[in-house]
Amino acid sequence: MDNTNNLSESVIFAKGEKAPEAFAKYFIGTNYLKMLVPPNSPLKCPIGNVTFEPGCRNNWHKHPGGQILLVTGGRGWYQEEGKPARELLPGDVVEILPNVKHWHGAAADSWFVHLAIEANASAGPAEWLEPVTDEEYNKLK
Ligand code: MN
Repeated sequence: MDNTNNLSESVIFAKGEKAPEAFAKYFIGTNYLKMLVPPNSPLKCPIGNVTFEPGCRNNWHKHPGGQILLVTGGRGWYQEEGKPARELLPGDVVEILPNVKHWHGAAADSWFVHLAIEANASAGPAEWLEPVTDEEYNKLK
């Protein structure tokens, strides 16, 4: 497949700015964040557009209310603890059940963009855990 795509600019939804440190500190590499539906919306279903530079991924984490990822660009990975990583491409949907330990991010050689929908947000914020090590990440092709 063609991994030469350059998604440094937005695809479909606004790219936003470099994620604030309070969020970026749970990532390896640089990511951009644009909240499309804010956390203080009465709908209680925040939606963010997340753009990962090649090689960027978030730490292992859990969502008390679960999460849905809708992939809109590039190539990336999703992995649940104890399972093989799943390659993600535009159009893929990931349903993450509450409190399942997982991470998501770009492939080493591709930008990656997904919408992150925080389900049941009133259950509480994400619980951030240890980084995905280079040893684990570099096995993925
Ligand atoms: Mn997640």
